[in-house]
Amino acid sequence: MKKNFKYAIFILVTFVTMMCAVVTVGAFNKNKTSVSVPENVKTVNLNGSVMVTWENSSNADGYVVYRQEKNVKKVVGKVTNGNRKIYIDKSVVSGGKYNYTVSAYKKNAQSVESKYSRNIYLSVPKITSFTVARGGMVINWDEVKGAESYTVYRSNGRKNEVIANLNAGNCTYKDTGVLQGEKYRYAVVANNTGYKSGYQCKTSPVYVAAPKLKSTVNGNGYISVSWYPVFKADKYKVYRKVDNSQWSCIGTFSGENTTIQDKNVVNGKVYTYTVRTVDGNNFSGFDGNGIDGKYVDVPKNIKVYNSNNCLSVNWASVENATKYAVYRKDNKNANWKYLGETTTTTFADKNVQNGEEYTYTVRARGENGGFSWFLAGTKLMALKAPALTLNCTPDSVMLSWSEMETATEYYLYRKAEGAKNWTCIRIIKGTDTPYFADKNVSAGKTYTYTIKQVRGNVSGSYNAKGYATKYYAAPTVDSKLSPNGILLIWNKAPVGTGYEIDRMTESNKKWIKFATVNGISTVKYTDSKATYGEMNYYRIRVTGSNLVSYSTSVYGIDPNKPAVALTYDDGPYTPVTNRILDVLEKYDSRATFFVVGSRVNTYADCIKREAALGCEIANHTYNHKILTSANNDVIRSEIQRTNDAVKKITGKAPTIVRAPGGSVNARVKSVVGYPLVNWSVDTLDWKNSGGVVSIVKNNVRDGSIVLMHDLYGSTASATEVLVPWLVSEGYQLVTVTELMELKGIYMEAGEFYTQAY
Ligand code: ZN
Repeated sequence: MKKNFKYAIFILVTFVTMMCAVVTVGAFNKNKTSVSVPENVKTVNLNGSVMVTWENSSNADGYVVYRQEKNVKKVVGKVTNGNRKIYIDKSVVSGGKYNYTVSAYKKNAQSVESKYSRNIYLSVPKITSFTVARGGMVINWDEVKGAESYTVYRSNGRKNEVIANLNAGNCTYKDTGVLQGEKYRYAVVANNTGYKSGYQCKTSPVYVAAPKLKSTVNGNGYISVSWYPVFKADKYKVYRKVDNSQWSCIGTFSGENTTIQDKNVVNGKVYTYTVRTVDGNNFSGFDGNGIDGKYVDVPKNIKVYNSNNCLSVNWASVENATKYAVYRKDNKNANWKYLGETTTTTFADKNVQNGEEYTYTVRARGENGGFSWFLAGTKLMALKAPALTLNCTPDSVMLSWSEMETATEYYLYRKAEGAKNWTCIRIIKGTDTPYFADKNVSAGKTYTYTIKQVRGNVSGSYNAKGYATKYYAAPTVDSKLSPNGILLIWNKAPVGTGYEIDRMTESNKKWIKFATVNGISTVKYTDSKATYGEMNYYRIRVTGSNLVSYSTSVYGIDPNKPAVALTYDDGPYTPVTNRILDVLEKYDSRATFFVVGSRVNTYADCIKREAALGCEIANHTYNHKILTSANNDVIRSEIQRTNDAVKKITGKAPTIVRAPGGSVNARVKSVVGYPLVNWSVDTLDWKNSGGVVSIVKNNVRDGSIVLMHDLYGSTASATEVLVPWLVSEGYQLVTVTELMELKGIYMEAGEFYTQAY
C-alpha cells in the first residue's frame, strides 16, 4: 500500500537521526605503535544487538572489540578486515550497562584500546496488540527490562510525531488523537538516562469511532434509542442488556440511522443500550456504561366525558405506574399543556368553557423511573349543566333553566321520593322554550330533578345531587275590576309566610314586585295603581317557598272615569263585525258581542278576532229562539250549544246571556243558569239606521248598556262615528262584565241586568 511505503521512508529518516544520538566517552591511551588507536568509537542500540562503530587512519589489518560490564572486561569480538569498522554485539541483555573499547592491529603491532563508548542496551518494545476503543486507539507493548520510560511515536504517512512519554510500568497507551476511518503506524522506544532502544514499527487497524449515545425515549410499545452520527459510518450495531446480563446485539443498522426502535420491551423493565460503529470488518469501541431506557407502557383507552361541569378523563391503568400526568390541547393551544398529576386513573378538568372542544392525553410514570409516551388523545366538547330552577305552580312543578346555545336537546330527569335512580321524564329541543311543567306530582311529596344538555351524540354534565322541592299546589289567582282598582283574589297557600304580588304590563314586559302581604291568611289585594288603558298581568309568589301562581290578566280600567258597554246582537257577520272591530281596535276599546250559536262556526275568524281584542263574547242562544216560548230543555240546549261552540274556538265559554228580543220571564230566569243582560239604550238600528248616533248621544251616560246589531252596514257606520265621539267625551268603552265589575255589581245566575248605575 502506498501509505505504508511512505511510512517506511519516514521511519528510515527518523531512525538515522536517532542513531546519531550516540555517546562516546573514552579513556585516553598513550600507547605509541605503528598502528594508530581507533577513534570516535560509538555505540547504538539495535533490535537485539548493540552496533559498535569507530574510525581508524592506519590501514589496520583488524580490530579487537572489548566490552566491560561492571568490573569485568572481555573481548566480545574481532574484526579481521581493516576496512570494516563495525561490530554487532548480539550478546547483550536488556538493561545491561556496557563500555566498549576498540584496539587496532597490524602485523604484530597492536594499538592500545580506544577511548570507551558507554552504552545501556535496551531491547525494542514489542507492540503486542492494538485495541480500537471508544475515543481512541489503544497500543499495547511488552515491558522492556531496564527501561526508565517509553516514547510512543505515531505516523499517518504525512506527519510523524511523539504522542506520549510514559514512565516505565506503563505498557499501554490510548491514542485519542485518531480519526474515524484512518489507520496509523506506531513505534515505541524504551529510554534510560539518554540511551534509547531500537524500534519496530507496527500498523494499527483502522480506527473506528464509537458513537456518542444521545438519548432513549419511550414510545408506544418500543424504546427509541438515539446516538450522534459517526462520520462515514458504514453501519451501527446496537447492543442491549437487561438485569445485569451481558451485552447482546439487538440489530445491525445502516449508517444512515441514528435512531432505532427496540420493540422487544416490557413495561417496568430497565434496558441499557450501547452502540458500536462498523467500518468494513472493523468495529469501534463502545460506551460501556451505555444509556438506560426505562420502559413504561402508554396509558390506553382514554375516555372523556362531561361530568359535574368538568371534563372527566379516565384511562386503563398501567401496571406499577406510580403517577399519571394529564395533558390537554384545545382550539387555542395546539401544543400539549400539562394539567397535573394523579395517582388514580381519573382526572377532572374543571377549567373548561361550555362549547369548547378539548383533547386529552395521559403519560404514566413508572416505578422504574421512566415516563411513558402518550396516545394522540381523545377529544370532547365541554357541555356544562344548565342551572335549573323549580317552582310549584297550581298544578305542576315548573322547571325552568338557563338556555345553552350549544344544546340540541335537554334531558330532564326526576327522582321521586326515596328513589335511587334518575328517570328521564322529558327530552326538550334546544330551540324550544326552556320550561317544562311536571304535572305528575302529588302534594306533600318531594321530587328531585336534574338536567343535562346534549349536542348531537355528546352528552353534557348534570348536577348529580339534583334540585329538590317538596310539591305543594301554588295558589290560583283571579283578577277582577272593582270600583277601587283591580281586585286580586287567590286561594290560601299550603305553606309559606306571606305573598309577594308581581305585576307586568303590556308595554313593559317585565315582572315587578309591587306589593307584599304578610301572613298566608290574607288572600285578597286591590291594585289601585294598575296601568289604565292596557293589559295588566299578575302573579302571586308565596314567600318562604318556591310556590308561584299562574298569571292572570285584566284590562286596566280607571274606576274614576265614566264607562259604557256597547253591545252587538245576532252576529257575527264578517262584513259588519270586522268594521266594528277595526274602529274598536283603533281606539283601544272593547264591546260585547251576543252571538247566535249557529253562526259561530261560519264566522269563526270573527269570533277569534273579538277574543283577541279583549271583547266579550256572550250568549244569544243557538237558533235565536224566543226563550219565553221555548220549553225548559230547549232553553238549556240553546244556551249550552252556544257556549260549547264558542268555547271550542276561544277556549272560554260565555258567562252572560241575552235572551232574543230581550224576552225574559221568571221561568227563563230560573232555567237559563246565567246572568241575563238587556240594555238601557236601544238604538233601534234594525229599523231606524239614521237615528243611531243621535239616540246614543242623547241617552248615553256612565254605566249605560247600548244595544246594536252587527248585521247592518249602517250600524258599522254609526259605530265608526260613535266610538271616537264617546272616547272624546271621556268614556271608557268596556265589556258588560268589565262594566259591572267596575261599578261593583256582581252578576249572579238568573238575575236580570240592564245597566250599571
Ligand atoms: Zn236578537
